[in-house]
Amino acid sequence: MLIMWIAACSFDQVPPTLTVPPQNAPRAGEIAVPLLVEDADPGVGQVLLSGPAAVAATVDMDRIVIDTTLLPDGPTTLTVTAVDSSWYRNSVEVDLAIDVDNTPAEVVLTARGGGRGRTLGVFVQANETLSEVFGRGLGVETTGRVLQPTVGRWLTGVDLEAELVPMPVVIRVVDLAGNLTEVHTTVQVTDVDYPTGGLINLTDAQRRAREDDTARQQAMADRQAAYAQDIGGARWSGPFEMPTRGRRTSPFGKFRSYSDGKKQLHTGLDVAAATGTRVEAAEAGEVVMAELQAIYGNVVIVHHGEGVSTSYNHLSEISVSVGDAVEKGDRLGAVGSTGQSTGPHLHWGLVVSGIPVNPDEWLTDGFMEP
Ligand SMILES: [Zn+2]
Repeated sequence: MLIMWIAACSFDQVPPTLTVPPQNAPRAGEIAVPLLVEDADPGVGQVLLSGPAAVAATVDMDRIVIDTTLLPDGPTTLTVTAVDSSWYRNSVEVDLAIDVDNTPAEVVLTARGGGRGRTLGVFVQANETLSEVFGRGLGVETTGRVLQPTVGRWLTGVDLEAELVPMPVVIRVVDLAGNLTEVHTTVQVTDVDYPTGGLINLTDAQRRAREDDTARQQAMADRQAAYAQDIGGARWSGPFEMPTRGRRTSPFGKFRSYSDGKKQLHTGLDVAAATGTRVEAAEAGEVVMAELQAIYGNVVIVHHGEGVSTSYNHLSEISVSVGDAVEKGDRLGAVGSTGQSTGPHLHWGLVVSGIPVNPDEWLTDGFMEP
């Protein structure tokens, strides 16, 4: 019997080879680490995991699943040992260094804005590097931006007719290990003094166009779809520029009366200029609309990312196409009086999260810091 057993046993003295991929990023929760273990003769006998402290893990020949929640936060070095099935039990050891982080980021919020028809910026200062920022106000969650490793930003527009109440805002941030922090706050919506007055006399054709509510609603729906597009991250890096040279006429937020008896808030900024005057992109972005629309005439909408878009309306001509990437200052078209317009002018709109806001504040502020 003894002779038979020795005959079945290998006296190989070469240990297995073992490869453990490095775990560079901070990790949280349960993590799976793939292993590559090979032993030509006589084969792998066993894989073991050991560490400075007790470690909860499931160890297989091809992977180790570790529960990091039982380890302290910070760097830990574990040891993976592969043993062959020879008489000598030849073994190899490889370090497995993991940076454990099971603690969500601690954050401090700073809100800027909150006035009707203005942009609300919520800035997040965290005690560790962030990977993602999200925010929710008025029910819709949108993606923010990590501005610096530990600073995040979330933007939304406040409607010109928003109720003057505290607006609940929920900010969620994710750290590099995937831990989630959720913070609830409220931002008081404040009144802003906008000018009133101004009677706009409509031509018969304009009056008929306004009566055709289907065309108007279709135009609005198409515009909202353009504003809602996701072009990836934000493409601006500072204040926007005025897209044309001319004389400011009707400001944003003005409450105007029309000769058909209707009253309407002006959701853009009007700049009067001669037909053909160059109209430029206020900032870098992607063209998401370039077409003739009811009411607005020839329209270009540029999406700048992160829910921010600018619209250029009543153009005499359009010189870009949907899908074009534009830089700040690129020509989009020329001033005109197409659509419902009383003379050559640019109606410049700026929309944040689908809500028109005053473009004026963006001429001096790109919301790059708290
Ligand atoms: Zn206008």
